[in-house]
Order: sequence, then structure tokens, then C-alpha cells
Amino acid sequence: MANGEKRDYYELLSVHKNASDTEIKKAYRKLAIQYHPDKNPGNKEAEEKFKEMSEAYEVLSDPQKRAQYDQFGHAGLGGGGFNAGGFGFGASSPFGDIFSDIFGDIFGGTRQRTRGRRGDDLQYNLEIRFEEAAFGVETKIDVPYAKRCGTCEGSGAKPGTEPKTCPTCRGAGQVRFQQGFFSVSKTCNHCNGEGRVVDNPCQTCRGTGSVRDTKALSVKIPPGVETGNRLKLAGEGGQGLKGGPNGDLYVFISVREHSIFKREDNDVICEIPISFVQAALGCELDVPTLDGKVSMKIPEGSQSGRIFRLRGKGIPALQGYGRGDQLVVIRVETPTSLNKRQKELLEEFARISGEEAHPMRKNFFEKVMDILS
Ligand SMILES: [Zn+2]
Ligand SMILES: [Zn+2]
Repeated sequence: MANGEKRDYYELLSVHKNASDTEIKKAYRKLAIQYHPDKNPGNKEAEEKFKEMSEAYEVLSDPQKRAQYDQFGHAGLGGGGFNAGGFGFGASSPFGDIFSDIFGDIFGGTRQRTRGRRGDDLQYNLEIRFEEAAFGVETKIDVPYAKRCGTCEGSGAKPGTEPKTCPTCRGAGQVRFQQGFFSVSKTCNHCNGEGRVVDNPCQTCRGTGSVRDTKALSVKIPPGVETGNRLKLAGEGGQGLKGGPNGDLYVFISVREHSIFKREDNDVICEIPISFVQAALGCELDVPTLDGKVSMKIPEGSQSGRIFRLRGKGIPALQGYGRGDQLVVIRVETPTSLNKRQKELLEEFARISGEEAHPMRKNFFEKVMDILS
């Protein structure tokens, strides 16, 4: 799917960006009933619309996906090299679980639910260096996950035995019962909807069909990320069971503090101490930046706290183009531990300097005189 052509998900569902979950669900339900393929047989346009809306709903109804979409737009959900895999519906059914979730049996309930269970979504916390966050990095991570058990090939039954058909639901995974005028179906309790039960559990996985393992993955961190950003590696989560799709892996980024740089949006802030002599006479400074040393001229008479801007020396924008700036903040350091000779020179300096050399101080004490007189 081409990201450039995708419509805004909120626009598709005609809801505000800050709509509540209930509002989103309501809006989707209304539109989906209108454009549902069962109601519009052979209408390609309605079908296309229905698919778009369902995709929008799948994202906006999932807090994680919604947050990611709000932050990164469509790019946060697939493509652009940001995710390892694309975003889409489960492979098994075109409209996935959201459909039965939101409508239940409203459209006749003829759809066969897949037996497979989707693998778990996993979270991995990754700490990276300040420079890696700024310029991006490709790194390897070892991710623990639930793998299909090799002994029983995921069936959960001891080798040589087979899971048997659930006697309660006769393998349907669902039981139907009458409630007033309606025939209602619900998940079979005996087999948890799987339609089959295991009498002799596999000893390797204790009948669960999966075992713990780790896998090495390569993760590409895009330039400009910061603490709290999250990458989705679609399908890299826990392995799906019994034919179900894999879960997704979310890599949570945290950026280590830098010894001299701080970040504010895409700007890098660096405080540099200079002597009061340098501040008074002006000087040439070697300023560290993310790209190495830069020479900067400090004009004479610079006050402590003065900020100099180095354009384009900040952090690349995660979305869009360009870089932030580096802000160099001057801190004038008062000299300490002076020896006798140094003190004499400063006293001499004070004697021959009139108030004109310190206009701030002069101005302040004039105000004090006003107040006290
Ligand atoms: Zn097993
Ligand atoms: Zn059953």
C-alpha cells in the first residue's frame, strides 16, 4: 500500500482527532452497516470504502496503534523503512476479529471463526546512545518469544496421541442456545473454542503447544527518535498457535543521557563555561557538536546565559526534512582560588574601572536608590 495515497483515518470515520473509543466505535458501526458488502452485493466502490474504514477502525480502536498513528501517521504503521513489516489484516480472514467483535451475529454469523490463536504482542525495551537516536542505528536484539513446540508440533498432545474432538461442542468451538427469539452462540467452555481437547498432554510444553525461545532480530532505528518512541515489527511477536497469525513486536526506545548535550525538540543544547576574561575580551571557542568540532566567535562583552545558535547542527526530524539547531549557552565562570598576585591585579582593575564598565550593575543600583530615597 502506498502511504502517500492513504486517507486520514479520522477523516475516513468522520470523527475528531480526540474522539473517545466509544465515539469511534459508534461512527464505524454506522458506516460499516451502510457499506457492508452483504448490503451492497457487487458494488466495488462500497467494498473499497468498507475495507478502508475497517482498516481505519482497526488502528483507531487499538490504543497502541492509535498512539503510533497519532505520532507518526501512516508511516508509523508500515512502510518507509520504519517498520519491519507492513500493517494489514490477519492473513486468515479479510475483516479479522474486529468484525465479530463489534457486530457479533448481526450479519447472520455464517462466517467460520478460525481455530488458530494469534500470537502474543511482545514488548522489548531498547536503550540507545544520544548520537544513535540522532542519526539512527541498526542494531541486533535477542527477543524471547513463545515458539511452537517441536515435540508435538504445536498440537499440545503427547506424540503418538491426538487431540480429540470436543464432546461438548462436537468440534464447532461454539455452542448455540436459544434466548427468547434469538439463537445465540457462544464460545465453548470445555475446549475454549478450539473444538478439540487434549487427554494426554505433551511433556515438553505441558500441553500448551508452545515453548520459550529467543530469536535474534535486526532493528533499524530511524534518525530523530527519542525516549518513548516505539517501533512495531509486524509479525515478530509470539508465534501464532494452530495456524493463527504471529503477534507483533514493539520496541520501546529509551535514549541515554549525554554528558554535555541535552535535547529540546530537535534542538541540541550545550552549555559552555568560559572565563570572565574570555567573556570580557571576546574569544574564539571550539564548540563540540554532533558533527564534530565547530569554531565559534564569542564577541567581547558577552554576558553569562547568552545563547548562540548554530543552524542545522541539531537533530534530524523524525518526520519530514531538515535538522534542528544547536544552541550554545555561555556560562561565565567566576575565578576561584586566586593567589596574591592575581588578587592584586583584579583590585588594580577595579580601581581603574569606572561604573561605565558595568552598566547592568549601575542601572540596578540607580533603581535601588530610587526605591530607598
Ligand atoms: Zn508440545
Ligand atoms: Zn468444545
